[in-house]
Amino acid sequence: MSELALFGGTKVRTTAFPTYVTIGEEEQAAAARVVSKGVLSDYLGRSGPRFLGGPEVRALEDEWCAHFGAKYAVSVNSATSGLYAAIGAIGLRPGDEVVVSPFTMSASATGPLVYGGKPVFADIDAKTFCLTRETIEKVLTDKTRAVVVVDLFGHPADMDPIMDLARERNLIVVEDAAQAAGSTYRGKAAGTLAHMGVYSLNVHKIIQCGEGGVVVTDDARLAERLRLVRNHGEVIVRETNAHENADIIGFNYRMTEIEAAISREQLKKLERFAKGFIENTEYLHGKLRKVPGFTPLGVLPECRSVYYQCAFHYDAEAIGVPRARWLEALRAEGVPFGGGYVEPLYFQPLYSERWPGDAGYARGACPTAEAMWTERLVTSSLNHPQMTQRDLDDVVRAVEKVYARRHELAKRPS
Ligand SMILES: *Cc1c(COP(=O)(O)O)cnc(C)c1O
Repeated sequence: MSELALFGGTKVRTTAFPTYVTIGEEEQAAAARVVSKGVLSDYLGRSGPRFLGGPEVRALEDEWCAHFGAKYAVSVNSATSGLYAAIGAIGLRPGDEVVVSPFTMSASATGPLVYGGKPVFADIDAKTFCLTRETIEKVLTDKTRAVVVVDLFGHPADMDPIMDLARERNLIVVEDAAQAAGSTYRGKAAGTLAHMGVYSLNVHKIIQCGEGGVVVTDDARLAERLRLVRNHGEVIVRETNAHENADIIGFNYRMTEIEAAISREQLKKLERFAKGFIENTEYLHGKLRKVPGFTPLGVLPECRSVYYQCAFHYDAEAIGVPRARWLEALRAEGVPFGGGYVEPLYFQPLYSERWPGDAGYARGACPTAEAMWTERLVTSSLNHPQMTQRDLDDVVRAVEKVYARRHELAKRPS
């Protein structure tokens, strides 16, 4: 085996890896169909059928319900909008608290702030990287109204105990399934496990239309309120259950007809993409399981994960190399891995500026999330369906090579 590339040896990989491309002729044709009709969006912000959007938007919502097994689907222009709409549908009031995860994309936690509420961070579980009933219970107060649970890296949260807790404590649960389209929990689709579920269709996700999202629910009243928040609902609130919906502040969260037409094609491809992610990730996990201290993230037996990210627990002590050095060596081999994912969200100044001195936003508040960020997590996106066997084998060879030369890596400065 040659010298580490970091010290001048031959790189394992000299060309770039394929990028994940989901858009093809079908999406081109779908977009062209809309453009040739000339109606790029068919919403009106007043009562009547067009309050609910045009034909592509509605067809997408019907198909989404059928695919995932939900009663109602409300398309929006991003999952961020979807998460904000979900908090609006709950009717959050100033001072209300919402339990959120610190280890996720920032919009999973900011929704409550839009309504004057307070995000309260609960720690993640080290096995699934999701909130659990136990971590949520630790931060409940008599002001808690809701919980936003994230299916991180596509792994569904262990939702049954969380929904039990919600029944006991009269809480609304929002499932952020932005990374989990195609995952399941006890045979049910991720995104349909809580009172509302939010999918993302942004360019980075398993399926995408550039920017977009869908909220699903089985609750007719929540569905109505989501639609009001999406499209200036205050204007038509008198024609709905006016006394119940008078608190609605509408936004423009509407998806365009082009995005909806593209999303409909993407939905048809979801299962094929999901299988590709799963196959490639399981191949990498199987090969790399032999590397001590670099342990693939497990999947609960009741779950199927689409592995939006391919994640490993990194044990710097077992390997004898700090994570940053390990990543540097892999990158030098031409195989980029990522470290830590995101800093715990309460490290952002947003929270401690608003609630100075609040221990919930201080370092140490969520030790598991902090440990993942600083030292214990390594991730990779080199598991997508367009990775070939040779590409995957290069990833494996790079890890094995760096591991085999770890003692030298630990000792020698570059
Ligand atoms: C991508 C993502 C979002 C936001 O999605 P957008 O569609 O870009 O607004 C929210 N939550 C999680 C967990 C995400 O990964």
